[in-house]
Amino acid sequence: MLCELASGDMPNRLRHRRSTQTVEVAGDVRGDGGAASVAVSVRGLRKAYGPVEAVRGIDLEIPVGQIFALLGPNGAGKTTTVEILEGYRSRDAGEVEVLGCDPASERSQLRPRIGIVFQSTGVEPYLTVRETVTMYASLYPRRRAVDEVIEVVGLGEKRDERVVRLSGGQQRRLEMAIALVGDPDLLFLDEPTTGFDPAARREAWEVVRSLAGLGKTVVLTTHYMDEAQYLADRVVVISAGRVVAEGPPSTLGLRDSKGVRIRFRPPSGSEPPASLGGVTRVDGFVEVTVEEPVVALHDLTGWAIERGLPLEGLEVIRPSLEDVYLALTRQGEKGGEP
Ligand code: ATP
Repeated sequence: MLCELASGDMPNRLRHRRSTQTVEVAGDVRGDGGAASVAVSVRGLRKAYGPVEAVRGIDLEIPVGQIFALLGPNGAGKTTTVEILEGYRSRDAGEVEVLGCDPASERSQLRPRIGIVFQSTGVEPYLTVRETVTMYASLYPRRRAVDEVIEVVGLGEKRDERVVRLSGGQQRRLEMAIALVGDPDLLFLDEPTTGFDPAARREAWEVVRSLAGLGKTVVLTTHYMDEAQYLADRVVVISAGRVVAEGPPSTLGLRDSKGVRIRFRPPSGSEPPASLGGVTRVDGFVEVTVEEPVVALHDLTGWAIERGLPLEGLEVIRPSLEDVYLALTRQGEKGGEP
């Protein structure tokens, strides 16, 4: 993927005001649009703020079209990493390529090809939704239809409402519409559903999924494990400036092959198979963690069927993404290997 101006394009610098910063956007700039397979590539990234080593040698590779989630506790280095990818922050060391561009030196070529949804908005409160999105659309050489974008983010019924009258969740959707209207190849979503009610979160997730359906690459930071589980093709967990685990949510940290908990309540007076082991709790439930759940369940259910016994409340519980995440980040903060 090349990072270059398309021939005949004239740079047209625009300014997009945000609540805490002024963001420069270079318009009339396009990439090659070629069929590259890697959207983001990072090798040995480092960044310190004085004595604080915020990022300590991070490697990442994000294929085109992937929904990628960056997870980590407060202060792990997520924002620093993402801001370096966006071109808002300089790096101390490492190689970074975003859509074929070095965000440090080729910011103006990169900027119109990325969309960013921040946690707070800086849009004009007295414009309507439609006026706002139309205004931003006019800043981009390549754009999606305004009404289509408003529909995609679920603000169709609010298109003529003034921004000041939108709820917090609706304002975040508007931010998403603004980020989308320039038809970016890569979208950064910073905690996109913070403050949403459960139904609004579900709807926002569908919006994000629909972006992937449009072939966009999405880089998501979130503190919600269910969000990462639902949305992400792949997650990277960072802790204390280092990657401590990466993979699809279903297998992160060997989640799929780690011990599985089996829980059931045997009828009183019966003795479950000794080979199973386990502890009987005060409520009469037996809990056992096993490495080979298929074998253990075969033994247990075979034992119960032979005797015609019910296994009340039988459950097979895998470690959740949150269990794995908490274990990984605890190890990362101690400086240990996951
Ligand atoms: P959060 O989940 O709380 O947003 P984060 O993972 O995004 O955290 P960063 O904001 O990247 O973490 O911060 C990483 C470390 O760098 C922290 O120790 C933070 O205090 C420090 N840091 C971040 N920005 C600056 C800055 N501008 N000046 C000094 N230190 C900073």
